[in-house]
Amino acid sequence: MLKVESYIAGATLPPCTGHFVDKIDPRSGEKMGEIANSGPQDVEFAIENANEAVPAWRDMRPSERGRILIELARIVRQSVGRIGALESAETGKPGQEMAALMDLTAQYFEYYAGLVNVMDGEVINQGPNYHVYTRRDPFGVIGVILPWNAPLHQAARAIAPALATGNTVVAKPSEHTSASLVELARIAVEEAGLPPGVFNVIVGKGSVIGPVMARHPLMRKISFTGGLTAGQELGRIAAERILPLTLELGGKSANIVFNDADLAAAAKGATRAFTWNSGQWCAAGTRLLVQEDIHDQFVEKFIAEVAALNVGPDFDSTSGPITTEAQFKKIQSYFEVAEREGLKPAIGGKVATGEHLGNGWYIEPTVYTGVHNDMTLAREEIFGPIVCVIPFKDEADALRIANDSEFGLGAGIWSRDIGRVHRVAAGLDAGRIVVNEYSGGFVQTPCGGFKQSGYGREQGIDALSHYTQLKSVIIRL
Ligand code: NAD
Repeated sequence: MLKVESYIAGATLPPCTGHFVDKIDPRSGEKMGEIANSGPQDVEFAIENANEAVPAWRDMRPSERGRILIELARIVRQSVGRIGALESAETGKPGQEMAALMDLTAQYFEYYAGLVNVMDGEVINQGPNYHVYTRRDPFGVIGVILPWNAPLHQAARAIAPALATGNTVVAKPSEHTSASLVELARIAVEEAGLPPGVFNVIVGKGSVIGPVMARHPLMRKISFTGGLTAGQELGRIAAERILPLTLELGGKSANIVFNDADLAAAAKGATRAFTWNSGQWCAAGTRLLVQEDIHDQFVEKFIAEVAALNVGPDFDSTSGPITTEAQFKKIQSYFEVAEREGLKPAIGGKVATGEHLGNGWYIEPTVYTGVHNDMTLAREEIFGPIVCVIPFKDEADALRIANDSEFGLGAGIWSRDIGRVHRVAAGLDAGRIVVNEYSGGFVQTPCGGFKQSGYGREQGIDALSHYTQLKSVIIRL
């Protein structure tokens, strides 16, 4: 049985409340462990320890900090059977995906460990009587609040730049998937040589821990990845304190298939776009816009791809279960919404059952055709393997439909016409556009949302500016 407690200043911290909550295995519906339900005192203890660790860590040369992070990356790559297996067990992700996800996690530490060496200020020429320059200073203690859909690499994309730039971190994983991040922090301190107190993990309920983190006077910035409601709550507290936030929120991304696309490739890509991680993906392509004149031909290919998926608990399943019971129930509620709005599934539309699926939380990958963009299914983020196929006439119509959403996280374009690709990419209100594949981009490519999908950016060089504060030094000679 898993027993997960906070890891603060290089030691395990039992919760001051004495309470634990059950962790249920999404593959079986059975209890697999307990997670500490930490209280406000634990959060305060974590932030105070992180704050004490700031001066020594901040004042190390960037290359020295980088060396430790590169060592951490090396160990992470070798830990598919340790932290990778934990993440797979907690989330239900198929085991075959873990090597790539651990590699991605490691890449964040490598990238920012190297990049911080070229993060310099600039000298600003003000004539011979002045020496003027800028520098990038860390904030101090940074809070990193995380969702359950991709625990480790999403943690790494915020924690790596925060640490590399000389901040210390109090990370708060989702209460549904905490074990792998606690293990990462333990490895960082006990094996890679990170000073205790630099990387801390507090586990427990977000509604308790999140507000205490945001209100604490020593908390200097929060990077939040999660849903709109918690993001808004955090935003209200942050406004009172002028606390800087990076908000990586949800999406309802449009994936647009034009009539000149490679339809076989588009059908495969569109399938992965809404079923990867069982659709529990912020940038999932859940509004599939298909040009009218190829609609029927494309949908036939697309449904054949979806029908070939293999959902289950196995190492080589194409997708696993839904990670939380609440999410499992929420997805099912959209089947009822669809029926009320007159939609019938072209495939799927129910809980996936079978002897090998037991009481696990599995959903059949589901396609609704003939959807209008104003229907509930096309407007709300479902966070499950459900896609709406929406026909469109021409480029202008595709852009109008794609941008008619409160979200603006990702978008896909399938076309062989390079002029069209650039026009449509320029016209889309979304933070990341992927053309002729549907992927999550790279460690080096900025990620973030337009509109209610959030603000600030993770990944890429630009993230360094979100984890540092720019300072000008003006010297009269
Ligand atoms: P969630 O908002 O319920 O929880 C996210 C985190 O916030 C958890 O750690 C939770 O404990 C904590 N939390 C809950 N209430 C809080 C509060 N009042 N104050 C502070 N923290 C609080 O989201 P989830 O269900 O874990 O994840 C799914 C959501 O995350 C989806 O909307 C998805 O699109 C989004 N997401 C976005 C990205 C991105 O990069 N934009 C990536 C992954 C997931």
